[in-house]
Amino acid sequence: MKNPMSLEGNNVIVTGAGQGIGEAVARLVVDLGGRAILVDLQGDKVGAVAASLGADRAEAHVGSVADPSFVQDMVGKVVARHGAVHGLVNNAGIVRAAMIHKMSAATWQQVIDVNLSGVFYCLQAVGRHMLERADAGDKSPATIVNISSDAGRRGTIGQINYGAAKSGVMGITMSAAREWAPKGIRVNSICFGVVETEMTETIRSDKFRDRVLAQVPMGRFSNPEEVSQPVCFLLSPAASYITGQHLSVNGGYTIGV
Ligand code: NAD
Repeated sequence: MKNPMSLEGNNVIVTGAGQGIGEAVARLVVDLGGRAILVDLQGDKVGAVAASLGADRAEAHVGSVADPSFVQDMVGKVVARHGAVHGLVNNAGIVRAAMIHKMSAATWQQVIDVNLSGVFYCLQAVGRHMLERADAGDKSPATIVNISSDAGRRGTIGQINYGAAKSGVMGITMSAAREWAPKGIRVNSICFGVVETEMTETIRSDKFRDRVLAQVPMGRFSNPEEVSQPVCFLLSPAASYITGQHLSVNGGYTIGV
């Protein structure tokens, strides 16, 4: 039987792939038979991850998802080189914490630019290409996974910029899913709880750890390898009838929300 999660022959762009969850997703894309196109601001890191995967299966692009001309150029180069983009994982993200009454306009904007506008720029550039393929009668896979967060479902203290952006990502997912479903393009979100990466070092520290874990029915955090699997599930043919959904991957943190 063919593996229903196979990504054989799929070219998949993964943003924020220099470390953490994005790196794990890129590695699993390759393990599942695909080619990973890794995008990140950190050239040294993303270059090393791509090199470890092999030049025939992975390549690195250095730039910011918040820069629409970089995004357009990057997608154009990938299409010119490989013919098609079959998957996009909008994963790049940042945190810039401050309580609401102390947050500067610049701190607000920085997170919105990367975590919300960056998702839109990548989705739009890849979506235009996928629409062209669909209109030409090409039925090969066309799937987009946007990385959101429990912060987008429930709000968060000290990160209103992040919470607003992650709620917005779910809005982007629903609108794009509705607009593009007739063309065969699937768009879904994943909402993570707490995953062991650099981003969550503070909330996993001794000061907060027990308080946070008390709210997670499974009583543990996750790791990038574990959460990369549901991302690839949504990219794969196993999720062929799923679009416009927000899948929580959080040990039960938001049951019923
Ligand atoms: P991370 O900080 O370990 O990695 C993020 C990567 O994104 C880094 O390599 C960074 O260089 C890159 N990046 C940042 N800004 C960029 C930009 N403008 N353009 C291109 N690349 C950029 O974070 P992570 O924990 O792996 O998080 C990945 C995604 O998952 C983020 O969207 C994050 O908000 C989301 N998320 C993470 C958790 C968690 O518990 N770790 C929970 C919920 C959601």
